[in-house]
Amino acid sequence: MKKKDKVATRRDILKTLLKGGGYLGIGGLTWGAYLNEAKSEPMILRPPAAIDEEEFVKACVKCGTCVEACPYDTLRLGTPGDTKPVGMPYFVPREIACEMCPDIPCVPVCPSGALDINKVQTFDEKKQEKVLDINKAQMGVAIIDNESCIAFWGIQCDICYRACPLIDEAIKLEYTQNERTGKHAFLRPVVDNAVCTGCGLCENACVTEKASIRVLPRTLATGKAGDHYIKGWDKEDEKRMKEKEGEEQQEKVSDKALEYLNGDWEDLIDD
Ligand code: SF4
Ligand code: SF4
Repeated sequence: MKKKDKVATRRDILKTLLKGGGYLGIGGLTWGAYLNEAKSEPMILRPPAAIDEEEFVKACVKCGTCVEACPYDTLRLGTPGDTKPVGMPYFVPREIACEMCPDIPCVPVCPSGALDINKVQTFDEKKQEKVLDINKAQMGVAIIDNESCIAFWGIQCDICYRACPLIDEAIKLEYTQNERTGKHAFLRPVVDNAVCTGCGLCENACVTEKASIRVLPRTLATGKAGDHYIKGWDKEDEKRMKEKEGEEQQEKVSDKALEYLNGDWEDLIDD
């Protein structure tokens, strides 16, 4: 049941906190459980605009306001025993995904900065002001298990593709032919990491027994090539390449100067 337009009252927030385990009144035992669970559970999806996990667990004051503001009951608070940090918001897409509300009611209500509105804002040239943009949310990244996704078996299924609010951007369908038989085609979903918001509507809709497309936190799902790899065709990287060449040139000049100061000036003359 949706609870759209519901305004969180102090009583609602208290109720949410109590639902979340009532850790405030229970004391040491629950706090200890929270600490253990906070350390052992990196596999957690936070609301849109959440700051980095390490900072998030320090900043969140566990008020539950974001949970109360969510009209789809997507967000819930960690409770003792569910292996999530107690009292802090998270969501489980297979149960209830984020519906990507354009007005993002869960974010501006956060009093602590654990949800940072700047992360879901964009500059509107026409209005000449910042506006909310849920498509900038980075809750996680959808990952496909090629082994269990039936589209990879050649069975026609485009459920996740159709469930995606950024259809043909975050999830595209890739057409390939079965090379062995020559007659069967595959239409496979492919996720664009840079665009995927991690809302989990794909995971929620997946028809396999256990979802074959699942959202993981970005830090777990994505790799890092390292600064020394450069994409020759990328404008930004082209700039980096020039800067790097400039740095190398500068290093060579410094080396020559050092050689000179160390007395190897004859080599310098030969050059
Ligand atoms: S954007 Fe997602 S998490 Fe936030 S209120 Fe809407 S459904 Fe809930
Ligand atoms: S993220 Fe913000 S609104 Fe949500 S429980 Fe934490 S402090 Fe409260």
